[in-house]
Order: sequence, then C-alpha cells, then structure tokens
Amino acid sequence: MNLDKKVYLDNAATTPIRPEVKQTMIEALSYYGNPSSVHSFGRTAKSLIEKARKNIAKELGVSSSEIIFTSGGTEAINMILKGAVRDLGITQIVTSPTEHHAVLNTVHSIENEYGIRVSYVKLDAKGTPDIEDLNKILSEFLSDEKVLVSLMYVNNEIGNLLSVAKVAEICQKYKAYFHCDTVQAVGHYPIDLSSLPIDFISASAHKFYGPKGVGFAFIRKDLPIKSFLFGGEQERGRRAGTECLHNIVGMEEAFLLAYQNLDKERTYIEGLKKYFIERISQEIPLVRFNGQSDNLTESAYTIVNVSLPIEPKKTDVVMLFLDMRGVACSRGSACQSGSSQGSHVLKAILPEKERDKAHIRFSFSIFNTREEVNYVIEVLKEFLQ
Ligand code: PLP
Repeated sequence: MNLDKKVYLDNAATTPIRPEVKQTMIEALSYYGNPSSVHSFGRTAKSLIEKARKNIAKELGVSSSEIIFTSGGTEAINMILKGAVRDLGITQIVTSPTEHHAVLNTVHSIENEYGIRVSYVKLDAKGTPDIEDLNKILSEFLSDEKVLVSLMYVNNEIGNLLSVAKVAEICQKYKAYFHCDTVQAVGHYPIDLSSLPIDFISASAHKFYGPKGVGFAFIRKDLPIKSFLFGGEQERGRRAGTECLHNIVGMEEAFLLAYQNLDKERTYIEGLKKYFIERISQEIPLVRFNGQSDNLTESAYTIVNVSLPIEPKKTDVVMLFLDMRGVACSRGSACQSGSSQGSHVLKAILPEKERDKAHIRFSFSIFNTREEVNYVIEVLKEFLQ
C-alpha cells in the first residue's frame, strides 16, 4: 500500500479550485483599484464585478440587480432570513430539522430576537421534507400572516433532493415567501429562476470549484431587503464593505465553467458514485446507506452517506485510520466536525439505536477517479478485517 497516497472525498465540505479559476484570480489581483473609486483604476475593478454579476444573473434567468455578492453561503442566508423578518414583516418561518446550521441557528436567533414562530416540516421515511405536511402547515396560517419558508435543495449530509418546483408552487399558492438554500446545488444543477417562483436563493463558490469566502444571495426584484452590515453603499446599498474582486471573478469563472460542463461532469461524477455504491455493497455487504443517498434519482450525484458495520465506539478510530491512509471524508457536515454532538440530520432521520453507528459521508468531484474509489474500498476492508 502506498502510504503517500491522498484521496479527497470530502467535496461537500469544500471542493478544490479549478486551475483556470486559480489563474483568473491571480490575474485579478493586479486590478487593485477600489471598485467604488471614480478614477480609471476603480472603474476597471467595478466593470469586472458588474460583468461577473451579469454573467451569473444571466445563467440563473434573473437580472443583475437581483444578485448580491457576499462572503459565502452563511452570510447570504443570514442576510436573507434576517432581512426578510426585519424588512418584510415575517411572523412565521417554516423550515425543516435537517437544514444546514447556517439556516437553523439563524432561525433560532431570529426567533429569540423578533419573537416570530417557527414550524418544522415533518420528514418522510428517507429524511426528505414532506410536501404534504408543508401544504398542511401553510394552509393553517391566517391569511394575513406573513410567512417565510426556508428549505434546502440538496441536503449536504445525506444528499436528499427536494422537489423545489413543487415547494415553490405551494408557497406561491399560500403567498408565502420561499428561500431555497441552494449552496450544494448551484454549479451542480440547472436553476432557472425565470420560471421558478422562488424569492431568495443562497450560494457559495467553494462548493463548485471556486474560492472560499465568496458567494451570493439572489433576492427577487422589488423585495425591500436592506443591508445588515452598516457602512458604504456597495452592492446597491445591500451589502456594505469593499468588494473582494479576485474572489468575485474567481466565483464567476467557476460558475461559468460549472454550467458549461454541467452534463459531462454530472455524468462522470454520477458514474463514480454508482461505482462506489456497487463496490462497497459487494465488498462490505453489511453496509447501510443513509437517507436517499443510494438512490441515484432522489439524491445528489455528489454525495453518499453510509453506516459501517462496526461498533459505534470505533467510529473515531475508523476516521483516524482513513486519514492515516490519506483518505479525506467526513462524519457529516464539516462545520460540525469539531463538535461533540452527533449529526442533527441523522438524529432527525434514524431510530435511536442506529444513531451512534459509524456514519461516514463520502462526496465526489470531477477530480476523483475509479482507482481512488477502489483504494478507499481496500482501506475500509483493511480496517474491517
Ligand atoms: N448551506 C449548506 C447546504 C452548506 O452545505 C453550507 C456549507 O457547508 C452552507 C450553507 C454554508 O456555506 P459557507 O460555507 O459558504 O458559509
């Protein structure tokens, strides 16, 4: 066994940067003018930012003024959820127990600060928010109640896909605002906001081979959401602070390449995931798949979440063993890795006796190969011997 080998299967935590994106970012570092300055240095920087905004907006079927650059998914989500409550007068939020903590913790904080009420949609047997329950919850609100629904497109731990079009339709029926956390979906799935009645989406470049520390919020035209950072008038007064030019153009490049190559890359990654499922099922027959992650149509092609047939107390040991063999994967969300609490997603979907098992998320990218999958299976078999 080659002990110097490194296999990165933690792409839902973050993806490597594409070489073309790196190059674009390095070149952009030369444009050091402040985009708010009126001289030519500033105007050059500003025009690159506006080009990025236009290109991203075009692909999503919206206008440039509806895209606000942020420092990433978490900031976009905070901006949208807090802004909606403060500026649209939301009194009820409907979400699910399996959302990312960027949503759940923001909702908790707003709940305490603004005294709004929060309802959690029930999950179906495989852990996807139940559309019928969403319909029921929304139908029971008073007609003058202002409601915001926040549900994610792709679950970052188990990969479950939401029927976004159906959710958007139900929200429209009950005149509820809809925020879709699309952090794991942008750059991986086509999103046409010209036909989908979604009011807000959030995105993060480092999930689609772009840089960390940059993302965007889409806020539907005419929704009067104000800045939650106080300062200058950047981003049309909606996000104060000097823009990070090299990150924004890096995100633009990553975004455009992701959509130019979407079908080809999706087929490739889906093939790897299928191969992983087949191999692990053959070699470790007692393996179990969490959520919909072994169902290729109901889960994201990038994510698989397994339970290994080992004692729960050995979970840390298997993670350490994989790491020593150069394999990077995770126990769920990367932001939870340092926490002593287990995954809130698996807690919500698994029976109590199953929760402590060794659950591992493997997530794939265009840079992975079948040979790497074979290596990981061999490492797991070696551990289980
Ligand atoms: N939402 C989802 C579904 C995520 O997977 C993540 C990151 O893991 C976030 C939000 C937060 O995004 P960021 O890391 O850009 O703050």
